[in-house]
Amino acid sequence: QACLYVVATPIGNLEDLSPRARQVLEAVDLILAEDTRHSQRLLQHFGIRTACKSLHEHNEQQQVPGLIDRLKGGQTLALISDAGTPLISDPGYRLVKAAREADVRVTPIPGASALIAALSVSGLPSDRFFFEGFLPARASARQERLKVLADFPHTLIFYESSHRIQASLADMASSLGAERRAVVARELTKTFEQIQDGSLADLCLWLEADTDHQRGEFVVMVAGHEPGEQAAGEAEARRVLGLCLQQLP
Ligand code: SAM
Repeated sequence: QACLYVVATPIGNLEDLSPRARQVLEAVDLILAEDTRHSQRLLQHFGIRTACKSLHEHNEQQQVPGLIDRLKGGQTLALISDAGTPLISDPGYRLVKAAREADVRVTPIPGASALIAALSVSGLPSDRFFFEGFLPARASARQERLKVLADFPHTLIFYESSHRIQASLADMASSLGAERRAVVARELTKTFEQIQDGSLADLCLWLEADTDHQRGEFVVMVAGHEPGEQAAGEAEARRVLGLCLQQLP
């Protein structure tokens, strides 16, 4: 029966592929992968020989009509991305939307997603949170976006790459407050997994302290704004200023 399966794949440790995900990837007519070469490593590891076609940001729009025709013709397709859950900062939205509009069955095969894995070990409030994904690459746009998020009362979750982790954390410290609590989850499920917490200022120093800390993939989580935080910050600034003034001749 026609179906589009949206299949989560591991975010590092290949053993996190669920048995059901494996069965589905073996059984479907075609796997749609963000990068077929990248996904071959996973598929070969499990001896899965299903045909693969690429579906990425740049060809998704153009591929959708043909894929919907296949589904309408009764085929089964599985959508995967390079890592984690498709559509979460990854391609697939247009295909899923079109499949639903065409009344095709769309079903999830759940599994890893870096944001949920990171939040689950962060120790930050997890009852409500806001997933921002990637901040803009340009510094001015990034700072603008952080200003919008500064007063948000719930835990903020960001994705970041090794290229921009230092610049992003520095901008978070200046826009959200250097004293704000935060957690950096790096290389989750991989050999060099690290989960580091502290104030945003502490985390900037931690990154600087060792270039190894700047490698790999990151989820950054920042505590939500607490009412009174600014007042407390200002009181602390007045206290420090008072101490400095006392030292003046
Ligand atoms: N769809 C994926 C998911 O469900 O998590 C996210 C894809 S997004 C293109 C890639 C980003 O996810 C990375 O830049 C990083 O921020 C985060 N990420 C993926 N794997 C990770 C890991 N093992 N540890 C930490 N962050 C990871």
